[in-house]
Amino acid sequence: MISFDQAKSIVNKNIITLDTELVDIIESGNRVLAKDIKATFDMPRFNNSSMDGFAVRASDIKSASKKSPIKLKLIGGIAAGDPGDLSIGQGECARCMTGAPIPHGADAIVIVEDTSGFEDKNEVKIFAESFSGKNIRYKGEEISNDDILIKKNQLISASEIGILASFGYGKVLTYCTPKIAVFATGDELIEPGDVLKDGKIYNSNLYIFSELVKQRGFKITMKEVVNDSPESLRTFLSEALNNCDIIISSGGVSMGKYDYVRDIFMELGVKEHFWKVTQKPGKPLFFGTKSGKMIFGLPGNPVSSFLGFMVWVWPVFDRLMRVQKSQWITAKLESTFPREPIKTRFLFGKLFIKKGNLMCIPSSKLGSHMLSSALDANCIIKADPGQGDIQKGKNILVKLLPWKNIL
Ligand code: AMP
Ligand code: MG
Repeated sequence: MISFDQAKSIVNKNIITLDTELVDIIESGNRVLAKDIKATFDMPRFNNSSMDGFAVRASDIKSASKKSPIKLKLIGGIAAGDPGDLSIGQGECARCMTGAPIPHGADAIVIVEDTSGFEDKNEVKIFAESFSGKNIRYKGEEISNDDILIKKNQLISASEIGILASFGYGKVLTYCTPKIAVFATGDELIEPGDVLKDGKIYNSNLYIFSELVKQRGFKITMKEVVNDSPESLRTFLSEALNNCDIIISSGGVSMGKYDYVRDIFMELGVKEHFWKVTQKPGKPLFFGTKSGKMIFGLPGNPVSSFLGFMVWVWPVFDRLMRVQKSQWITAKLESTFPREPIKTRFLFGKLFIKKGNLMCIPSSKLGSHMLSSALDANCIIKADPGQGDIQKGKNILVKLLPWKNIL
C-alpha cells in the first residue's frame, strides 16, 4: 500500500505526451497551443479612422464652432475596405468612414455629428475644432509586427481564437486530444433502459465517466461494459492499449474471486506502479503505464469510481490542458468531518458563502456505494489522515467540482 502523496507523485511523473496537429481555428477551442503565435503585421495595419466623419487638417479648423463654422472643400470620400489612395490639401476635406485608411495630408477626423453632414456635395461646414490625431487609430499602436501574441501551451478560448482570426491564421498547431477508453466490468451490470433481473444492478459508473470526459471536451474512443471473464477483458484491453492514450476502468480491481482487471493489464505488458492507495473510498486503485499510455483501474463502488476519477484522472486532464482548473482551497466546516486514522479521506460536500466566509457541509452519506451523496454536492472534500473527527468550525481542504458553482 502506498500513501496518497507518493501515489500522486508517481502519476505526475508519468503524464503522457501528446502529438501535435494542425486544426482549423474554428475547431481549436479547448485545445492547447503547441507553438508560439506571432503577429505577422502591425495592428492596426494602417492608420485608419475610428469614427464616421470627415478627414481634415486640424490646423484648418481652429476655433470652428456651431456659431462660426469653417467651410472646407469636399474632394471625395473613402470607406472601410477602400485602398488608401486619397489625398487632401489645405482647406480641403474628405468623407472618411470607420476603418477607412486616413487620406494623405489629413491628421484628424471630425465626427459627422459636428459637421453639416454627408449630404453636402461640394462644401462641408465644420462645427467643432479638432487636434492632430483626433479619432485616428495609428498603425502599430496596439501590436507590432513579430510580437508574440499567444504563448505555446495556452489553452485556446474565444479570446485566442479572435486574435488568431485577426491575424489571418486559418489553422493553428495544437496538441492532439488524448484518445480515451473507458470500461466497466461486472456480470451484475445491466444498461439503464433495460429490465433488471434478480441480483443485477444498473451500470452507473460508465455513464459518470462518459459525462466527465465529455465535460472536459475530450472524446471517448472506446467504451464498453465487459464481463467478469479474462477472455472478454483480454479482447477489450488489448484493443484499448493499441488504440488509446488513457484507459480508465471501473470495477474488478479488488480482492474478489472475479476481479481480473489487474491480472489482465499485467498479462498484456502494463507496468504496475501501484495497486492500493491509503485512501477512503477507493483503496484498490490500480495505476500502470505501457508505452507512454496511462491506465487507471478504479474500484466499482460508484462513489469510489466518481471520486477516484476526480482525484486521479481529472488532474491528469488538467496537466494535458496546461491549466489548474480546480485547486484545493480552504473552507470552514459547518459540521463534523469523519477523518480516518491512516487513510486520506474524500467525501462529496456542499460549499457556500456565509458572512463572507467559505463554508462546507460534508455529505452525511458516508458509504462508497451511496452515489446520492454526489447529488447536491458542489465540491470534493479531502482530509489527510489523523486522529479523531475534524470538528465544526475547523478548516478543511475542498475542491470545487469544475462544472458547479459555490452556492
Ligand atoms: P468491484 O469493484 O467490481 O468489486 O465492485 C464493487 C461494487 O461496485 C459492487 O457492489 C458492484 O456491483 C458495484 N459496481 C461495479 N461496477 C459498477 C458500475 N459500473 N455501476 C454501478 N455499480 C457498480
Ligand atoms: Mg466486480
